Order: sequence, then structure tokens, then C-alpha cells
Amino acid sequence: MNIVLLGPPGAGKGTQARRLITERNMVQLSTGDMLREARSSDSEMGRLVAEVMDRGGLVTDEIVIGLIEERIAADHGGGLIFDGFPRTLAQADALEALLAQHGEPLAAAIEIRVDDEALVARISGRYTCASCGEVYHDMTQPPAKAGVCDACGGTEFIRRADDNEESLRHRLMEYYRKTSPLIGYYHAKGILATVDGLEKVEDVAAKIAAVLDRA
Ligand code: ADP
Ligand code: AMP
Repeated sequence: MNIVLLGPPGAGKGTQARRLITERNMVQLSTGDMLREARSSDSEMGRLVAEVMDRGGLVTDEIVIGLIEERIAADHGGGLIFDGFPRTLAQADALEALLAQHGEPLAAAIEIRVDDEALVARISGRYTCASCGEVYHDMTQPPAKAGVCDACGGTEFIRRADDNEESLRHRLMEYYRKTSPLIGYYHAKGILATVDGLEKVEDVAAKIAAVLDRA
């Protein structure tokens, strides 16, 4: 079962994707993670995307579609979770064509809805485990033991360069202008589901599980 997680930066897409990996053996395809990996390599593409990401813009459709294309063919267990992709209508059309080539439908597009005020608090408190990428929050999702990752026992944590208020403002504008039309796009295709992302992580996860069980 392949799904898209839709929602503004900080909505909880990555957090929910990680739960689906352990609970349903799904595979997360996060273009944000792929681009962060690309920018840390000493490549032409890395240099190109770093500047765009830091100011909170969208990387070109051509680059992200290329990244997804490379991975879609690989083994994907219980299904693919597209996290942070598609972000434009062109990317959504490309995803549909790629999945059709592989004879794989998209079962659901799940919009995680969160208001802007909460997003600022979410983004400014976010950090992740440097070893396994587990997502934490200073106030709402701290590890059980301070300074130790619940998932892997790692003790190093990182904060994203683009998790600052100025970049977030630009990322939000990009979301409303270019990505939110996808809500209508997937509604028209009859596969849109919306969950309240302001609820507790477990409650959001239960709502997503219910959508998947119905799909
Ligand atoms: P996204 O992948 O959509 O950008 P994340 O999953 O990284 O969002 O979540 C952003 C921040 O909000 C993280 O610090 C995470 O721990 C926290 N968070 C995620 N879901 C919730 C929730 N339901 N309630 C409170 N905090 C949450
Ligand atoms: P994310 O980790 O999903 O918050 O993405 C971080 C940044 O990577 C975004 O602000 C964009 O600059 C870039 N990015 C991630 N996914 C995409 C995408 N599908 N299309 C364009 N840019 C993207």
C-alpha cells in the first residue's frame, strides 16, 4: 500500500512515517532527507540545493522527481510512504506516472492539518538523533532519558539549519502557494483523507491507521 503524507513543515509527517515503518513494515521516501544527504556530499547538485533549502524555497521538480525515480523501483516491503513529496502539481503528475509504470496505485493521500501558530512552536523545538533520525521535540516529544535516543541509544542530536523562523515563514508560503493545491488534486481523485495533526502523536497515528485499514 503506497501513501502520500501531506502537510506543512512541522505537521508531523516524519514522526508518523517512522511509526508506520515499525508498525507496518513500510518504507519512507523523504525527499527532504534525500536532499540533505545530497547537500552534504561534495557534488554539483549538493551545492545547487543547499542555497535553496536554507532560504526555504523549493528545489526544482526535475531534481526531486529524479531522486524519487531512482528509489521507487527498489524493494519496498509493506508499501511506500511519500513524505514531503509531491510538493507541486507537476510532481504529483510525475508520481502518478511513475507508480503506473510499476503497476502500483496510490492508496491514500493523508493531509495532516496543523495551524501556523503550532507550526512555529513545533519547528523551533525540533531536533533529531544524529545516528538514526528519530524525531524529538524540546517540549512535546523529549526522549525518555534525557540525552539518549529512545530508538537507538545514540547520544548525539542535530537541529536543522532551516529550522529558524525566517526560513519557516518562506517554507510556509511555498506550502500554501504550491503544495496546498494538492489537497484538491487528491480530493478529486477520491483518495484524500484529513487528520487533525494537533492531537497527540499516538492519536494522530490511530487516525492514520484507521485510514489505512479502510483504504
Ligand atoms: P514534518 O516531518 O511534517 O516536518 P516532524 O515529524 O518533524 O514534522 O514534526 C515536527 C516537530 O513536531 C518535531 O519536533 C516532533 O517531535 C513534533 N511533533 C510531531 N507530531 C506532534 C504531535 N502530534 N504533537 C506534538 N508534537 C509533535
Ligand atoms: P522537509 O525535510 O520535507 O521539510 O524538506 C526540507 C527542504 O527540502 C524544503 O524546504 C525544500 O527546500 C526541499 N524539498 C524537500 N522535498 C521537496 C520537494 N518534493 N520539492 C521541492 N523541494 C523539496
